[in-house]
Amino acid sequence: MSNFVRSTASKYKFGAHVSGAGGISNCVSNAYNIGCNAFAMFLKSPRKWVSPQYTKEEVDKFKELCKQHDYNPLTDILPHGQYFINLANPDIEKAEKSYDSLLDDLKRCEQLGVGLYNMHPGSSLTGDHKQQLKQLADYLNKAIKETKFVKILLENMAGTGNLVGSNLADLREVIDMIEDKSRIGVCIDTCHTFAAGYDIGSKEAFDKFWKEFDEIVGYDYLKAIHLNDSKAPLSANRDLHEKLGEGFLGLEVFRIIANNDKLYNIPIILETPQEKDDGYGNEIKLLEWLEDISDEDSLENKELIEKITMLQKNGEKVRKEQLTKFKAKIEKNSNSKKRKSTAVKKSENDISSQLTRSKRARR
Ligand SMILES: [Zn+2]
Ligand SMILES: [Zn+2]
Repeated sequence: MSNFVRSTASKYKFGAHVSGAGGISNCVSNAYNIGCNAFAMFLKSPRKWVSPQYTKEEVDKFKELCKQHDYNPLTDILPHGQYFINLANPDIEKAEKSYDSLLDDLKRCEQLGVGLYNMHPGSSLTGDHKQQLKQLADYLNKAIKETKFVKILLENMAGTGNLVGSNLADLREVIDMIEDKSRIGVCIDTCHTFAAGYDIGSKEAFDKFWKEFDEIVGYDYLKAIHLNDSKAPLSANRDLHEKLGEGFLGLEVFRIIANNDKLYNIPIILETPQEKDDGYGNEIKLLEWLEDISDEDSLENKELIEKITMLQKNGEKVRKEQLTKFKAKIEKNSNSKKRKSTAVKKSENDISSQLTRSKRARR
């Protein structure tokens, strides 16, 4: 039974990460029932290296349900790779194990007719970063040769240093080494971007980030968005997703995203912490509502102002806790202290008044 009617009017493919428990075909109905126009899922258990292969019946059922619910598997579905896959690992035995799991995932995509695949680019750990980026690219080139059409998207990360994809330059460097560029792309996660130190919290900052993205990576490579608010402050380097509007990003950022024509027609996937799938259904409807509020209208829209205030209130306690932790961390580690202190000040302002901040930014 469908609880949320799927929008046919939206210019965006808003959707969520759904469960495929009990059979991969179940994720299609799960997505449909919460009104997704695109969706993500794990292709196998995210906690095990090896999982049983799909049966022919299951694959047929998946394709049939996609047809029935009008999802194009080539463009509307973005499976997520396992978190422990690390092709940049200097321990070659572990890297090989990761490669096997990646190749198995890519083959599953092609069995299902799925055209996109998202993965975390991994970590160079104690190895030489440049050298490990080369290793990652070599494995990706090999995987591309061993498959036919699925496009691999590298997701940007929330961390620093050896975590590949914590900055845009890493992504560029890997893409440069990919032989068949039609098979590679990027997925930008809003929470990771912010936590990595790229401020996207206002229209001005948001535009600046995308300009930088275009210069370093290139818009042509942007193939998907992961849409999450952040429990942790700017530059905290913590990967802590929050419900839309309750974190340090705040609802205004998502209204800006829902008014950005560069993001039409690519999967925009929610990975916010929800107790039930209905939470995603509500957030998709919220995004489709924000889509109708232009920059000019937003300042006077009473309903929007009430919503921003209410959601910020919901998340206030968690934001304060995370800010305290962040401050303690900076005190202990003087590394890049100045930049981080600025982030603290900004976060303190945001807690006291998100509303003023978003208004200020648009004046
Ligand atoms: Zn993500
Ligand atoms: Zn994340």
